[in-house]
Amino acid sequence: MFDSLSDRLGSVFEKLRGRGALTELDVRAAMREVRIALLEADVALSVVKQFIDEVTERAIGAEVVRSVTPGQQVVKIVNDALVSLLGGDAPEGDNQLNIDVTPPAVIMMVGLQGSGKTTTTAKLAKFLTEKKAKKVLMASLDVARPAAQEQLRVLGEQTKVATLPIIAGQQPVAIAERARQTAKLQGFDVVLLDTAGRLNVDTALMAEMAAIAGATKPDEILLVVDALTGQDAVNVASAFKAEVPLTGVVLTRMDGDARGGAALSMRAVTERPIKFAGTGEKLDALEAFDAQRVAGRILG
Ligand code: GDP
Repeated sequence: MFDSLSDRLGSVFEKLRGRGALTELDVRAAMREVRIALLEADVALSVVKQFIDEVTERAIGAEVVRSVTPGQQVVKIVNDALVSLLGGDAPEGDNQLNIDVTPPAVIMMVGLQGSGKTTTTAKLAKFLTEKKAKKVLMASLDVARPAAQEQLRVLGEQTKVATLPIIAGQQPVAIAERARQTAKLQGFDVVLLDTAGRLNVDTALMAEMAAIAGATKPDEILLVVDALTGQDAVNVASAFKAEVPLTGVVLTRMDGDARGGAALSMRAVTERPIKFAGTGEKLDALEAFDAQRVAGRILG
C-alpha cells in the first residue's frame, strides 16, 4: 500500500534525519521534494498546497531549528499533518458507523459500477456479523443489471448473511421499504442496501440514489470508490455528495494502490470521513480505516 509515495518520502527524510542542524533553506528544499512526491501520488493540487504551507510554517519554527534532532522533528510534523489529512483529528467516533439506533439501522451503499460496491456490501455484512455480533440483512436494489441481485444472494450464502428474497419486477424504493419491514418483523439489527451503479456519474443514477435516500432515510450512506482511480475517485465523491447526503467513504483496492492520492485528498476535498478500506478480493479483506496506521505506513 502506498509503496511509491512511501519510497519517495523515505529518501527525502533520509537526507534530513542524520543532520545535526537544519537551516530554513534545508527545510524549504525538503518541502519542495515532498510537494513533488505528493503531486506524483495524484493528491489534489489544492490539498498539496495547503499541506506544504502548513508543514513548512511549523517546520521552520524556532523549536525545530534549535532542536538537537531537527530532521526527526520535521518528520514528526509531516506525520502529524498526514494523520490530520487522513481524518485522524476528526471528532471522536466520526469514523464509526452510526448503527446504534432503534433497529433496524439502514446502511445504503452507493458508487459506480466496478468500484467494488457489491463485494464491499458483503464484506461489511460479514464484518458486522462476525466482529460486531449484529444480525444483518442484505438487499440488492440493482434492478438494472439482471445478475446483480443474484450476485448478492450468492455472496450472502458465502458469508452466511441473510439476503432479502428477490421479487422479479419490484423497483428500488419498494425493495428498500420491503427490506426495512422484513428486518423489523424478523429482528434484524442492520439492513445493508446495495444500489445500482453506472460506468459514469449520470443524472439518472443520481435521481435514483436521491429517491432511495429520500424515501428510506438511511442512517449511513457510504460511497464505495476505487482508490486506484486517484483524483477521479475524489471527483466521483464530490459528485455524489452534491446529490445524496453521504456520511462516509469506503476506499477499495487499497491493496494495489502504490500512490495514495485518493486516500490523501478524500477527506479534505469532500469533508467526509474514510470509514473503511478494502484490501483484497477476499470477503474478510476489509479494514476499519485508521489514519494513524495509514500515515505510519506512508512514512515507513
Ligand atoms: P460493483 O460493480 O461495484 O458491485 O463491483 P464488484 O463488487 O462486483 O467488484 C468488482 C471487482 O473488484 C471484483 O472482482 C472484486 O473482487 C474486486 N474488488 C472489490 N474490492 C476489492 C479490493 O478491495 N481489492 C481488490 N484487489 N479487489 C477488489
